[in-house]
Amino acid sequence: MSAQPDLHCDESLAAFRRETREWLELNCPPEMRQPVLDESDVCWGGRNAQFRNEAQRVWLERMAQRGWTVPQWPRAYGGGGLSKEQAQVLHEEMAQLKCRSPLMSFGISMLGPALLKYGTEAQKLEHIPKIARGEIRWCQGYSEPGAGSDLASLKTRADDHGDHFLVNGSKIWTSYGDKADWIFCLVRTDFSARKQEGISFVLFDMATAGVSTQPIRLISGYSPFTQTFFDNVRVPKENLIGELNKGWTIAKYLLTHERNMIGGMGTQRVTPLSQLAVKSIGLAAGRLADTGLRADIARFEMDAMAFAMTMERVQAEAQAGNETGALSSMLKYYGTELNKRRAELTMSIAGSDGLKFGDDEGSAGLAATWLRTRGNSIEGGTSEIQLNIIARQVLGLPA
Ligand SMILES: Cc1cc2nc3c(=O)[nH]c(=O)nc-3n(C[C@H](O)[C@H](O)[C@H](O)COP(=O)(O)OP(=O)(O)OC[C@H]3O[C@@H](n4cnc5c(N)ncnc54)[C@H](O)[C@@H]3O)c2cc1C
Repeated sequence: MSAQPDLHCDESLAAFRRETREWLELNCPPEMRQPVLDESDVCWGGRNAQFRNEAQRVWLERMAQRGWTVPQWPRAYGGGGLSKEQAQVLHEEMAQLKCRSPLMSFGISMLGPALLKYGTEAQKLEHIPKIARGEIRWCQGYSEPGAGSDLASLKTRADDHGDHFLVNGSKIWTSYGDKADWIFCLVRTDFSARKQEGISFVLFDMATAGVSTQPIRLISGYSPFTQTFFDNVRVPKENLIGELNKGWTIAKYLLTHERNMIGGMGTQRVTPLSQLAVKSIGLAAGRLADTGLRADIARFEMDAMAFAMTMERVQAEAQAGNETGALSSMLKYYGTELNKRRAELTMSIAGSDGLKFGDDEGSAGLAATWLRTRGNSIEGGTSEIQLNIIARQVLGLPA
């Protein structure tokens, strides 16, 4: 006997779609329906949140009130409590109306999922609602001067002092370390065990005595990173996530979410290249005047569409309860390569205008944006490391 469609469910989902669309139309300010210009146009929240305009502040506030900054997280922790079908509807309606995501946050894309899986009830209640509302901005303390790709060889230490740890050492490439309120940090708590087995996962406030940051200046002139130093930093034991010395499992789980997030940059909503090209180069006989560029853009748009569909498939599997695991490496690898290609094509389209660093409105400019995409295939684990993981864990090739 064939399965009957669940009419009640279809009807309630259709009603949810109508209500959602009405609410978005009414509440999403017009400025928040424009494509994001660059990194400085993104809302990060935090104790010292800086909003580019009032619309950005209002949009975050309204979405957070409904728990729609994190639609599927439980209501008890400030989430929207939506089912996967409802979350998909919200996602589709936001895309249809061109609504921006209200909040960019390492708390949402990295720490939150790890806390939901490994945190105690008290830890969830303490941290997750603040992440959902964008009240606390988090940074990631993983890499160290001698531990990048070989992350498990990290040396920052946390010594047991009864009710607290004393943390000493340093992290590097801490994105926005000087803007973050709290850090999620990997520390070594056992120096005698195999390197992966002596690591713990702790959280602490960046305002704690003994934490300091030093900006790292890049060739582009910007400084989105810090080296971050810990000098006898007192971390209460209740800030240990999961078991002592079992932090590596949490670290890897968090990395799958980070890689999905970075891979997703390959599908982000920006002005289509074809539109940019028509505007900048013009048409000849109804087609883009530059034939070489036309072919490159067509190839790019097809690859981007195929990737967006792959991303949707993996997301649907994740929503159905299947962990993405090593697949996140595939998404990260391909998404970041696409992002680099898009930036290169954007530069080709712009011609000499593409050389500009920054503009009068405070945007980063194409050249700086292009340079930033080079970092996409390094952050969260380099492309070479993703290819190693894909070879071993997806394709099953020998080490
Ligand atoms: C934009 C950006 C943001 C970042 N943000 C953060 C952050 O917020 N927090 C944080 O902790 N870190 C952050 N990082 C650091 C990032 O995680 C590391 O740079 C990355 O893991 C690589 O480590 P590494 O720089 O030490 O390079 P290395 O590990 O020294 O690698 C150097 C080169 O050797 C290659 N290589 C190394 N090992 C292998 C191998 N086994 N097989 C094949 N090739 C190999 C690498 O692919 C690379 O090309 C960020 C980096 C960037 C670029």
